Amino acid sequence: MNPEEVSEYNREQRSSFQTIRHACHMLSPSVKEELLASLDPYLKFRREVDAFQEEYFTSICRPACFETRLSACCGFESIFMFFADEVITFLVSTPWEISRLFDVLQRPNKTTHCVYLGAEGCLWKVRPISCAMFFCDEAKKTLFERVPEAEQLWLDFQGREKTFTRPTQKILFDDLEAFFIGLKADSPHMYYHKSPGLLRLKAQSGLNGTPRVRPSK
Ligand code: SF4
Ligand code: SF4
Repeated sequence: MNPEEVSEYNREQRSSFQTIRHACHMLSPSVKEELLASLDPYLKFRREVDAFQEEYFTSICRPACFETRLSACCGFESIFMFFADEVITFLVSTPWEISRLFDVLQRPNKTTHCVYLGAEGCLWKVRPISCAMFFCDEAKKTLFERVPEAEQLWLDFQGREKTFTRPTQKILFDDLEAFFIGLKADSPHMYYHKSPGLLRLKAQSGLNGTPRVRPSK
């Protein structure tokens, strides 16, 4: 690909955020408030994951990746994310934080890192769940040898992650997609409504995708 061109990945990301912005403009303040309130349990979970990372992983990651500026976790030009990840970070970000996302997406990514990696770290207010729940095998091995009880804490977090993202039950990530589909939004990242694997899992679990919060004028 021509390094001067904006990649298809960036264009898709930008289009998805534009879709969210457009749909959010149609929401009444009370519906927006209800939508934001529906994020509370997830945001609490994410604060706890961040605190866990800070307490247990920072001392391992700092010398391995931060001080060396390796940022191996963010060393891919494109990363996987759900539409709900985009919705959540959009809803909790300030206009300035959102404009930073649009700015980087309209430029060619001339780095070998994730397009969202800025000088101070990730530009997302709430990082995609796949990023927040990823630690390399080497870091986990070091931590679990050093602090064995951290392994069970980590397993508990992985279990809680599924209550938001695994559609064998009613989950926030599927609900958010359904809510925006109700607003006529569309994105290739709506995997809970487009991925054959996830659709099969939902069908096997008897889910019909009814949103928790319904759009209204
Ligand atoms: S989205 Fe953020 S945390 Fe995830 S890879 Fe990109 S810069 Fe890193
Ligand atoms: S988890 Fe591993 S790759 Fe990621 S920042 Fe820590 S040491 Fe680096």
